[in-house]
Amino acid sequence: MNPITDLRRCSRCAIPETHETIMFDAEGVCNVCRQHEFKKDAIDWSARKRDFDALIESYRGKHSHDCIVPFSGGKDSTFTLLYLMREYGIKPLVVQFDHGFLRPRTLENNVRTFRKLGVDVLSFRPNWHVVRKLMLESLRRKGDFCWHCHTGIFAYPMQIAVKFNIPLLIWGEPSAEYTSYYGYGEQEEVDERRFNRFVNLGIAAEDMEGMIVAEPRDLDPFRYPALKDLRRIGARSVCLGSYIPWDVRQQTALIEQELGWQGDRVEGVPGEYPYEKIECYMQGVRDYLKFLKRGYGRTAHLTSIDIRNGRMDRATAMKLIEEHDGRRPASLDLFLKYVDISEDEFYDIALSHIVAPWKPDVGGIPHGAPLPDAGEWDQTVTLVAVDSLRKRSAAQPQ
Ligand SMILES: [Zn+2]
Repeated sequence: MNPITDLRRCSRCAIPETHETIMFDAEGVCNVCRQHEFKKDAIDWSARKRDFDALIESYRGKHSHDCIVPFSGGKDSTFTLLYLMREYGIKPLVVQFDHGFLRPRTLENNVRTFRKLGVDVLSFRPNWHVVRKLMLESLRRKGDFCWHCHTGIFAYPMQIAVKFNIPLLIWGEPSAEYTSYYGYGEQEEVDERRFNRFVNLGIAAEDMEGMIVAEPRDLDPFRYPALKDLRRIGARSVCLGSYIPWDVRQQTALIEQELGWQGDRVEGVPGEYPYEKIECYMQGVRDYLKFLKRGYGRTAHLTSIDIRNGRMDRATAMKLIEEHDGRRPASLDLFLKYVDISEDEFYDIALSHIVAPWKPDVGGIPHGAPLPDAGEWDQTVTLVAVDSLRKRSAAQPQ
């Protein structure tokens, strides 16, 4: 099946019918595009900004830090941190859940950003042996190996909020930018509802314990805190993009100029987009899996945003999509080594998660070139004699 000719697409942004939460109206326009009209026309952004000012003031100076900023080092969290410090002069605690695949340029960007802004930073990297098992398990069950990352990135900063009694958390981009789990009219909070609605892929940490045969405490970094603990500290967890109009291109230009933030190449993405998802070694495989399952990749996602913002026409987008989406990324070799499966097994798993009516033809897929920094990515798997999970379970009393 050819994704360009055989999938129905939004008559405006060209996102296909296999996109999560998508619906088309009588004009063939998708619900995400309609959200953007609402964002541009119906929201009183100056009222929203005043709400945000009041929110910041109500937490200022009451705790060790005024808020937590969950931070990956990508364009959104970097902009959020810069904006908060410049606009409000607050004292944030930067909390980084390090998934273990941060690319060299992102690490450099982070050091530069932290030094220029002057912030306290807390970084946590979970046990690699656990992460490997979680990757394979969630790939098998959901066709998405990033469960550890989705859950850890959201759950871990909430745990830190509870532990350090810092009740306000400020995230960046709202999900209404590109899906319809929430609309711009709703007050989207990054809370347990959102966590269970789509972040954890429908698999709770308690279920994972049994699936990968781990102790409950091994799954703690991926567990959302108890509601009673969040209530006790009066937690509020919001997206900056719910209060100011989100514009990735403008925001990226700002962090480049003010912080010297540098973009990077990403597999399967045209060179015109050096700012999106540059953080992770495994991004190319993630986007490729999406293509295998849904018939579109990162390029379609990026061009749809430019179309909605009036910066690209649909024909140019379609041409870029055809040229860049759906290339087998060179990083797939490293991924297969990490999770210890064959390429055939990888395709068997991916193809068991296809979203109808899409049907990929895996025979004729062209290969993409490796990224310039791929030689620096860590290849370490596991020293079998010290498999931390197996050793420990063997040491348990019978
Ligand atoms: Zn659309």
